[in-house]
Amino acid sequence: MKAIPLIDGTDGARLPVKPAYGSPCNGCGWCCASEPCGIAREFIGADGEGPCPALEREGGRFVCGLIIRPLVYLGRAAGLDGADEAQPEEADALLGSQIAEALGAGKGCCADGP
Ligand code: SF4
Ligand code: SF4
Repeated sequence: MKAIPLIDGTDGARLPVKPAYGSPCNGCGWCCASEPCGIAREFIGADGEGPCPALEREGGRFVCGLIIRPLVYLGRAAGLDGADEAQPEEADALLGSQIAEALGAGKGCCADGP
């Protein structure tokens, strides 16, 4: 089995085990820790190595930062001042939902891993 890079922010918590391909996503983070997706590579400068810089931990599971606060990550990638400050909620939500659609979020585990 391929080694998974360490992910910050877990506080030593035991992470959920990756479910089988096609099962409901449990937020284990294996996919994005192993390798950034195409959207991360194209829009926020992620390279081929995991973990993805947009991987966040929230409520005991891993979530995609590009879905929940895309303007922060896009702003950081563009080198904009104030990218980490509060962003317009409506614009963030609209863009985040489009990114979620493009990623196929909510359609089950898309990672063919261990
Ligand atoms: S952009 Fe989101 S879905 Fe893509 S690798 Fe990063 S955290 Fe995962
Ligand atoms: S898509 Fe699969 S590997 Fe990725 S977080 Fe969800 S369950 Fe884990």
